[in-house]
Amino acid sequence: MTPGGAPLAPYAVQPGHGRGRRIDEPPAPTRNEYQRDRDRVVHSNAFRRLEYKTQVFLNHEGDLFRTRLTHSIEVAQIARSIARALRLNEDLTEAIALAHDLGHTPFGHAGQDALNECMKHHGGFEHNLQSLRVVDELEQRYAAFDGLNLCFETREGILKHCSRVNAAALGDVGERFLTDRRPSLEAQVANLADEIAYNNHDIDDGLRSGLITLAQLADVDLFDRCARQVRAEYPHLPDRRIVSETIRRLINDLVLDLLAHSARQIGAQAPQDVDAVRRAPALIGFSDPVRQEASALKRFLFSHLYRHPQVQARMSQAKRVVHELFAAFDGDPGLLPIEHRTRHQRLGVRAVADYLAGMTDRYALQAHRRLTGESLHW
Ligand code: MG
Repeated sequence: MTPGGAPLAPYAVQPGHGRGRRIDEPPAPTRNEYQRDRDRVVHSNAFRRLEYKTQVFLNHEGDLFRTRLTHSIEVAQIARSIARALRLNEDLTEAIALAHDLGHTPFGHAGQDALNECMKHHGGFEHNLQSLRVVDELEQRYAAFDGLNLCFETREGILKHCSRVNAAALGDVGERFLTDRRPSLEAQVANLADEIAYNNHDIDDGLRSGLITLAQLADVDLFDRCARQVRAEYPHLPDRRIVSETIRRLINDLVLDLLAHSARQIGAQAPQDVDAVRRAPALIGFSDPVRQEASALKRFLFSHLYRHPQVQARMSQAKRVVHELFAAFDGDPGLLPIEHRTRHQRLGVRAVADYLAGMTDRYALQAHRRLTGESLHW
């Protein structure tokens, strides 16, 4: 049943019929297994660290900017709305959405690129794979197992991308990258909800920071259409409220388009169960025109916000911090905290990457200050 009382669609992941956990556990008396997965994610250390991890390098500048934590909560909200409307498993969708960025490094994409460079002769660094490492291994809170021992379907959803080499080493959860299969619709929904969330909140944060302007956004059709409607209906609204109302409508338009198009595709394929979903092409998506408009919006954010000189300057500083931290800990593993030192004896340099990936922005800056004596002001 959905929380609203409607039965789940046949193509939804049905609680009680999944592929189970890596280590068997008795069922919880009051929660289904995906609700339990969600709860484990919320109680994890990695989830709390998201509060101090950068989304787009703006969170030190004011309290209203998104962090990875508020981003993840927005993704979960959008994903749940979509899942509910399609009669998918809302609990699983929520668990995937809340967990999707657990493996993110400090300093957003800059940190991840830098760590990948540091690890290039040791198997590289992929943040999706790292999210899976967090829930499979790195969280140490339960007596009976390492990690959170989440269900296969949750883990499948967390691993959004994966190289073939790494997929081959992962067993069941990596298989689909080698056999050209899709994940559940719940995972597909969480993935697109991520995109809807960051496109919209990055516009909002970009405007708030002053790095992009409303005038520039007039060139972005998707945004401009909603903004014109708002101005026509409310000619005297101050800019800040125009922005909020426009973004609210934009999220709504994107979700409605996604729902209509996905329902059409699901109807055409008529998958009878989750295995049929996995064999089918991706069924959750935007209509062609909206997908093109969404790509144009993404290109705008790349050229005007993510590549803004002010953001770029911070990114290169952040990359330097990660490289220098990596060099320090790799050069002298004795500098690692005791539990990471022990892991280093077993795993070598991967333990350094795990330690660095777990750092929050401010923890990384503190560690950098301690090791180099250099005090960076952000
Ligand atoms: Mg995300």
